[in-house]
Formats: sequence, C-alpha cells, structure tokens
Amino acid sequence: MEEKKQKVVVVGAGPVGSMAALYAANRGHDVEIYELRGDLRDPSTTPLNFTRSINLALSERGLNAMRHANQPRLIDYVKGVTIPMRGRMIHGKRPDGQLYEEAQDYDIHGRSILAIDRGDLNKRLLDMLEEMPNVSFFFNHKLTGADFKRNKAWFEDRNESTSNPRDRAREIEVDFDFMIGADGAHSAVRYHLMKFSRMDYQQEYIDTLWCEFQIAPSSSSAKSKFRISPNHLHIWPGKEFMFIAIPSNDGSFTCTLFAPAAIYEQLEEAAASTGDTSSSSSIPDFFDKHFPGVTSLISPADLIAQFQTNPHLPLISIKCKPYHFSSSAVIVGDAAHAMVPFYGQGMNAGLEDVRILFDILDKHDRMTNDDSTLEASQRELALAEYSAVRVADAHAINDLALQNYIEMRASVLSPLYRWRKALEEWLSVYVPGLGWQTKYSRVSFGNERYSEVVKKSERQGQVLLRSLVGGVGLPMLAGGLFLWFRYKGALGRAAYGVFYNFMGMVCRTIHGRRR
Ligand code: FAD
Repeated sequence: MEEKKQKVVVVGAGPVGSMAALYAANRGHDVEIYELRGDLRDPSTTPLNFTRSINLALSERGLNAMRHANQPRLIDYVKGVTIPMRGRMIHGKRPDGQLYEEAQDYDIHGRSILAIDRGDLNKRLLDMLEEMPNVSFFFNHKLTGADFKRNKAWFEDRNESTSNPRDRAREIEVDFDFMIGADGAHSAVRYHLMKFSRMDYQQEYIDTLWCEFQIAPSSSSAKSKFRISPNHLHIWPGKEFMFIAIPSNDGSFTCTLFAPAAIYEQLEEAAASTGDTSSSSSIPDFFDKHFPGVTSLISPADLIAQFQTNPHLPLISIKCKPYHFSSSAVIVGDAAHAMVPFYGQGMNAGLEDVRILFDILDKHDRMTNDDSTLEASQRELALAEYSAVRVADAHAINDLALQNYIEMRASVLSPLYRWRKALEEWLSVYVPGLGWQTKYSRVSFGNERYSEVVKKSERQGQVLLRSLVGGVGLPMLAGGLFLWFRYKGALGRAAYGVFYNFMGMVCRTIHGRRR
C-alpha cells in the first residue's frame, strides 16, 4: 500500500488506544500517544480503577484484531500467557447441604475463551509501540480541549520532572491530521466532539456495583497451583447478584462480586458499625449464604479486608452516535460504547473497532491519489461509513451485555435455558446445513457483526418457539381442553395451568428475559 504520512494523535493508551496506535504506525503515519496516567510499565503507576490489574476474557474478535495488527509476536505472546476457559463452572449447594460444581461448556466444538491479564497485555502493546520509530509517547498528559475544525488539541502536561512547580500543569498545543479518541468511558475526546458533531448520547448506571477479590494460589506442596479448575470461568449465581472467578497464570483467581448498591450498603454498614473489622462477620455470612464454598477459598478475614480495601465501583453503559466528526476525529472502545462486562466483550469489541476502522480507512485510501485535500475528504467518507456500520453493532453488543447479566446470575440454573442451548448445539453438529449456532458462540467465537448475531438468534428463537408450540404446546393444549370438557373440573384447570405456565417459560427463555 502506498504510504501517505499523516500525524495521528491517539488519546488514551489503554488496550484499545494502544492497538489503534499500532495499526496507525503500521501504515507509516507519525503517531503520538497522549495518556492521562503515567507509563503502566512503571511500577509506581496504578492501573485505572484497579487495585491490581484485572483479568479479562479475550475471545475471537480481540484475537482477530491482533492477527491483523501485523505483529506475529503479539499472537505468540498471547498464546504463551493466556489460560483457556472452556466453559462456566457453576457453584451451588444442594438442599441436603452438599456443595456441588457443574461444568457448562461454552461451545460444543470445544472452543474456549482466554483469560488474560489486562495490564500485561497493555504493557506488551506499549513495548511493541516503543520499538517503532514513528511512535512517540506523552504520558501524564490530559486532553483538556480540542478544536476539530482547526485540528488542534490542548493537553495538560502533568509530569513532575519540570523544575519549576508552576510549570507542572502547563498546557501544550498539538496539531494533528487525525485524532483517535480511545480515552475510556469518561472520554474527553467524546465530550469535545459533541460540540462539533450532532451526537446523540445516552448513558445508564445500572444498579450494580463491583468489587474485586483474590483467591490465592495453593501452597507449594499442593499438586496444582490452582485451587479450583483453571479452565473455567467460575460463577456463584445468586439471582440478584453473583460472584465470579477468572484464573491467572500464577495460580491465583481474580474474583468479582457484582451486587445491587443496596446490598453493598448493607455490607458496608455492617462492617462499619462494628468498628472492629475482624468482627464484621456479616460479609463471610453473606458469602456462606449466597456463594457456598467461597469462604474455604478466601478466608473470612481476607474477605472482610478485601471488601474494605478494594474500591466499590459502578458499571456504566453508554450508547452514542455518530462516532466521528468530519475527517478529523473518531472515538473507539469504551469512549464510544462502554458496556457492562457480562458478555466479556468490552475490550474485544474495542479491539474489533480498530480492525474495522482501519479496514474502512484502507479501502478509501486505495481510492485516493497524493492530493492531501482529497485524502481528507476520503477520510471523511471513511469515517462516515465507519459510524454508519459500527453504531448498530456497538448498540447490539451493549444490549446483549445487559441481558447476559440475567443469564449469568439466574438463567444458567434454568432447565429451559440449558435445553435451548443443548438443542441448538445438537443442531449445529448434526444438521450443519441449517447453520445453527448458539448466540454465545456467534458472539465469542466468530466475527459476524453483532447486529447480525442478534437477528440470527432471534430468528432461531422464533423457529424453536413455533416448533415447540406445534410439537409440544398444541398436544398439551388439546389434552387440557379434552380434560376440561370431559371433566370440567380441577384436572382440566390443572392441565390448562401447566400448559399456560410452560408456554410462558418457553417464551421467556427463547426470547431472552428483558430487564
Ligand atoms: P480504557 O481501558 O478505559 O483506557 C482509556 C485510557 O485513556 C486510560 O488509560 C485513561 O487513563 C486514558 N484517559 C482517560 N481520559 C484521558 C484524557 N483526558 N487524556 C488522556 N488520556 C485519558 N472486556 C472484555 O473484553 N472481556 C472481559 O472479560 C471484560 N471484563 C471486564 C470486567 C470488569 C469488572 C470491567 C469493569 C470491565 C471489563 N471489560 C471486559 C471491559 C474492558 O475492561 C474495557 O472495555 C476496556 O478496558 C476498554 O479499553 P479502552 O482502551 O477503550 O479504555
């Protein structure tokens, strides 16, 4: 491809900004990355919002973006550091008090999602960027303003290396040809973009907070360093809340408690009212009641300490459109579509944004000649196409992520949910010509557009519903009506009641329970 050098400014050096910088640098542009915080690779820099770095589920869309980043070492690195998780491990307690674990594979074809340390991946991307001569970093630089008509931006330089304290927060002005805003859910680029483009914007804080816990590795004498299966994403479903655990390479698990704010308040009050933290027993009691077995993996004292030390953070879901202004700026990743984490797609979707954005830019780039004015107008067309294509998909995965919270904390226990999954998987293997797949497989193991996944899954649901009504529901209805007319009594009413409740359950399962 012919190189047309431009100055690309990337705001935010999280995983998505770093990936965008890699794609831009691969195309020969001069890339400048501006990041609010210090360099993640410096041990004194704490990752945003996290006490430690969090573990994420990396899946096909994120991997696909990496494959297209022209960095074979990145894929080798990922293969070396990730832990495959082939399914969920549901933890619970039987009525007789026995603890049980039940494995539910994600995919009948044996495909896995990968547990990866978000911070390590981010550092690796920064290392790769550092080796590229056309990339410069500006850490401790906060975007404070932007004029997307004049292609100028202003950053507060927060580096403390300047000798004069009055200079510590000096502002610098930066020119650019093209800005990529990857500065997360509370994006400053998005905020400034709104002054230039007629952006629709919608945000929702869901009534759920999250807090991180750690399961330590086994003692060195144990057979395995992992105290529970390393190849599963562990879930303790709790109907209104849940606790999950994701494996790390050192044998530990990063766990997260997701629960409504009112539950957090109760636990915080219980802990505070005692004054003596060692006696704030309601936290272990709460875990024993709702997440059986956890207190044997994290001691009650550690549970209390971690609950009190680690931040209790909100979850935001953001939708907006369009994602660009003219030829000068675009937002990607959480800046464009922060989502709740229940489909494990936030970072994957952000990395996919980058692949799709550059696919479209490359397509339009091939149509231009060396005239830079034409280049800008082609980029404007490319960005308009990107917004048009990506908005529907980002909104679709945003909605799926919200719906999946219900699946993770409640539906995984429902027989009908399992029945639909098993039937769809059976069809995908034994009647491949139908092209059936579960929604989860399409989202996590494929690269189809998210909006297509939703359409196909709804279509499959309708076919299932019709078959069920025809194959099971109608005979049940006929039987109920027969009993009703024959006996006109309790038996008929009971048969009709069974039919009514059964069909209600089928409809809810097949169409996915709405929040
Ligand atoms: P961020 O990671 O937020 O990075 C934005 C960067 O911009 C930051 O470094 C920030 O310092 C910088 N910045 C902010 N403001 C400015 C400014 N004014 N100037 C300069 N720089 C600025 N995703 C998955 O794919 N799989 C999962 O399993 C998964 N699990 C998750 C679990 C939890 C509990 C949470 C909260 C999220 C999870 N996610 C998951 C989502 C994932 O973490 C995010 O989607 C991803 O980190 C977004 O990356 P980003 O680069 O777009 O934004």
